[in-house]
This record gives sequence, structure tokens and C-alpha cells, in this order.
Amino acid sequence: MKTIDNYNFSGKKALIRVDFNVPLDADFKVTDDTRIVAAVPTIKKVLKDGGAVILMSHLGRPKNGSEEKFSLKHIVKKVAEITNHKILFAPDCMGEKTAKMVANLKAGEILLLENLRFYNQETKGDLSFSEKLSTYGDVYVNDAFGTAHRAHASTTIVAQFFPNDKMFGYLIEKEIKSVAKVLNDSKKPVTAIVGGAKVSSKIIIIENLLNKVDNLIIGGGMAYTFIKAQGGKIGSSLVENDFIETAKEILAKAKAKNVALLLPQDSVVANDFNNDAEQQVCATNSIPDGWMGMDIGEKAIQDFSKCILNSKTILWNGPVGVFEMKNFENGTLKIAEAIVAATKKGAFSLVGGGDSVAAINKFNLAEQVSHVSTGGGAMLEYLEGKELPGIMAVMN
Ligand code: AMP
Repeated sequence: MKTIDNYNFSGKKALIRVDFNVPLDADFKVTDDTRIVAAVPTIKKVLKDGGAVILMSHLGRPKNGSEEKFSLKHIVKKVAEITNHKILFAPDCMGEKTAKMVANLKAGEILLLENLRFYNQETKGDLSFSEKLSTYGDVYVNDAFGTAHRAHASTTIVAQFFPNDKMFGYLIEKEIKSVAKVLNDSKKPVTAIVGGAKVSSKIIIIENLLNKVDNLIIGGGMAYTFIKAQGGKIGSSLVENDFIETAKEILAKAKAKNVALLLPQDSVVANDFNNDAEQQVCATNSIPDGWMGMDIGEKAIQDFSKCILNSKTILWNGPVGVFEMKNFENGTLKIAEAIVAATKKGAFSLVGGGDSVAAINKFNLAEQVSHVSTGGGAMLEYLEGKELPGIMAVMN
């Protein structure tokens, strides 16, 4: 397989699928430019080699053709500022005018195409739409991890028109390597921390992880279903009664596979789902009626941190408490700090999928772990052990 580092883009037009699906405010200003910043290394590599760049992306979820509010024209200035480069803009990703702009594109230039999803052929993975897109480039680079779990035209189908000239950009390459480091060639002990609200949304991940990890820490709202499955009293904590049996099966599987499954010994409980609710700390398996678990307690923090600090590979998916509320963020913060400390000691740490990414960003610790994934849904599916179409299309 070709990689971006061993490819020479000199004289080539690189068709790059980026994820510029960035949040905009009411004045169409970019409020979080992380995804644009993340695409820069790939863009610079093509330019440095002497190639031309054609960027394609979606923005939001337009329903019926083009919609002003979802136009990528709103981000042109920002992309120019971040790349420190002039950005040409094609106000349609199809059509003769665009084909001409592409044909006239010179080495060292960057052209951004209008929102791909203004054509529903994009999400349908339409073959002739994909073929048309493919005519723009000599080489296809997929650097949009956030949409790699979708078999869309620009993320998957287009790749087949570049049998010998397709590759991942730096961003996806890093995501793939990071997951491989955690799930496939990991240094032991391997610890996964899975938190968040519901067991139901994390079942497949947990089942996949049970084959890969030495320690599985379960925190957050989902922990209470496990505690109830063990016969504990959980007051009015979040629970999924339909998943009690599943929780029992997971506990049994962990035992059979010799995976240490850690649940929070104690919890910070509240008498209402509210930052200012009254709170107390109690054993997680004897929460009084009318009280609900909102965060892990000090004993659980000690217990989990010790396990994390002894690990060589760490995966974190999901907060261990209601971290959005100031009074219940402590457990999640302490877990993040333990992961940072373990990373400093040489562990490899991946924070991926959902709200743990929001949490690590909230605590300003993202720079101090090995990798923070950019793809929410894509990372979740990857951790579930699924093959992502966007990745398979480039690999095969
Ligand atoms: P998820 O998207 O499944 O990772 O869930 C993240 C959400 O779980 C966050 O919004 C947290 O506030 C929530 N959460 C974490 N711990 C608890 C808890 N003990 N009770 C209720 N919700 C929780």
C-alpha cells in the first residue's frame, strides 16, 4: 500500500477528502477550527512536493440540494488563514465550470470544492458521481477519519477509480496506527476505561475489548447496571433493566477470560440530577433510595488510578461521571490526570469516541496523552472491531 510519505506528488493533482465539517456560529464564523488545523500536514506535504491540492468535504446535513447556511464558502477565509495560503473556491463540486477550474489548477495551488452533500449522490455512494469526482485528481488521499465509517462517494466509492494511486493522509494514518497500538500490537498491561451513560451503546465495544485487554474499568452511568446485576442497591441511579442479563454475561466473560473488571467501589451521589443538588459519598452497592450516582468516589479514583498508572497501554472511552456539571467532574478529571501521568511514564494512551474527548479538552489535557481521536462515530465503530468502508477502500 502506498503511504503519503513515500509518494511524490510533484506535478500531480491530489484529490483530498478532508473533514471540514466544522461548527459555525450565527454569523457563519468557524467556532472550532480543530478539523481544519488537523488537515494541514497532508496539504503541506502535497504542496511541498510540487503538487496541486483539491479539497473536498461535507458541511452539516443539507437535505435538499444547496443551502446557503451549509456552504463551504463560509470557511474559505479560515482555511486560508490556517494554511497561510490562498484558497480558490469552486462554488459547485460538479459542473463544467468546476471541471475547468480543476483543469487550470497549477502546482502549488489549493482549490476547495463546494459542499459535496449538496448532491444526494454523495451520501448514496453514487458510482457516476464518484467517477466524476475522480476525474479531478491524479491521486486520491483520504484524510477524513470522521466519515470513514460511511460508504459515501467521496469517502469510499471514489477510491476504486485510483487502483494504484490511493492512500491515507497523515490524520487517518495516525488514527489507524493508534487503534492498532491499542488493540493489536499493544504493550501489556492493557487497560480500557469505558464510561458514559448507557451500557446499551457500549456493549459491542466491551465485548470486543474483553478479547484484548487485561483490565476493564467501567464507570459513569453504565456502571450502575453492572452493580445492580451483582445484587447491589443503586437508589435512583441510571439503570437499564433490559441489560441486567447482558451485564451479568459480561461479568462472567471477563472472569472466564481473566480480565480484571473494575467497578467503582464508591460513588458521589445526589438527590437530584442537578449541579446544585445535595450530595454525599457512599458505597456504590448501597445507594440510599432517592439518591443517584453522579460521579465516582475517592476510593474508586484511587483504585482506578492505580490500575491506570500500572498500565502500558490505555484506551479511554466515555466519562466516569456527569463531567458537564462542575460538582460532578472530579472523577473524570482524576482519571484524565492518571492517564496523563501514565503517558509521562511511557504508556501509550488513546482517548477516543464520544464524550471522553470533550472531557479531555475541557480539562486542557489533550496535548498530554498520546492520541485524541478526531472521529466520534468512526472511532466507536473501529473499537467495536468493525471494518470501516473508508479505510477498507484505500487498503484493498
Ligand atoms: P456517552 O455518550 O455514552 O459516552 O455518554 C456520555 C454521557 O454520560 C455524558 O453526558 C455524561 O454526563 C453521562 N454520564 C456519565 N456518568 C453518568 C452518571 N453517573 N449518571 C448519568 N449520566 C452520566
